[in-house]
Amino acid sequence: MADNNTYLEINLKNLASNLNFLRSKINSNTKLLAVTKANGYGSDSIEVSKFLEKKVDYFAVAYTSEGVELRKNKIKSPILILHPQIGDFDTIQEYNLEPSIYSFMILNEYIDKQCNIPIHIKFNTGLNRLGFSKKNLTKLCKILLNEKITVNYILSHLAASEDIKEESFTKKQIEKFLSICDEFENLTNKAVKKHLLNTSGILNYSDYQFDMVRSGIGLYGYGNNKKYESKLKPVHSLFSSISQIHEVKEGESVGYNRAFLANKNCRIGIVPIGHADGISRSIGNRKGKVMVNNSLCDIIGNVCMDMIMIELNDVNIKEGDKVILFDENSQNSEKFAEYANTISYEVLTSISNRIKRKFVK
Ligand SMILES: *Cc1c(COP(=O)(O)O)cnc(C)c1O
Repeated sequence: MADNNTYLEINLKNLASNLNFLRSKINSNTKLLAVTKANGYGSDSIEVSKFLEKKVDYFAVAYTSEGVELRKNKIKSPILILHPQIGDFDTIQEYNLEPSIYSFMILNEYIDKQCNIPIHIKFNTGLNRLGFSKKNLTKLCKILLNEKITVNYILSHLAASEDIKEESFTKKQIEKFLSICDEFENLTNKAVKKHLLNTSGILNYSDYQFDMVRSGIGLYGYGNNKKYESKLKPVHSLFSSISQIHEVKEGESVGYNRAFLANKNCRIGIVPIGHADGISRSIGNRKGKVMVNNSLCDIIGNVCMDMIMIELNDVNIKEGDKVILFDENSQNSEKFAEYANTISYEVLTSISNRIKRKFVK
């Protein structure tokens, strides 16, 4: 464990509040699936899933091992595996997980392993990532009927639901999904349940919520739009503290490769968190800032594996003072992500296991 003063705070009250906000955007009979892949977006998938279990209808994770981990920790809700791999199906069956079937190769594997768990069928409607295409429908439905496979849901995933400039593209994706659903139901002669929307989809295209919606980032407090900043509350806060302060003289350098050269006398603080903990090396050399004592301090020099150095402009800052990388009040992880030209998703999921998680209940 990194030092005790470096920790990720997971605010479960905020998680509950975000869930309520998202629920307020959907009909009471629409199911809500919580996405807890990638360790619950870098939080703690077990704690978060336990907290959410009675409050949501479904969970989804990316990989089979993530679903197994939830089952081993007594999560009983249905768990969708978004991206099962060849070789996973004995485990999927054993742990009662629901695979998203996205290709004929994966479907054949499901059949060869004589699985009888319900499945979700994924269609590609424009993201061009995973999924069957519309032209596969006839062959696909024939196999499903012949093999008497129970399809629990069909799904697709939007490419740009957060981007209002891409509204016409998104509408086309939705239309394509609708026509696939129609044809699927005609070919199988049966109504099928559907899910399409991720967080931004819920916020921007709630008419297409169908039977279930899938939220990840929204539960963790981000809506990919300033509009929702007052409604959604960040769940993750990353804190550290100042281990040591140095007075650096004009002409001296700081850190590896002497990347910071002092052009005047200054005070610097050493903070015990580094690129091994998910602090991108690209935010060294004054690209990124952290908050100490209500003052924003530049990260100076290169980000090290286990620490960063910051410039202290406030003379009152002392060793042991709290350092805020991101939190609800000073700068959130979306702002912190901008320093590295990335998005909150990457900042949150990069936080290493070395960092202790503390929960606010
Ligand atoms: C990760 C993921 C989501 C969650 O998206 P958010 O933008 O975090 O709500 C939903 N659906 C699929 C298929 C995903 O891979």
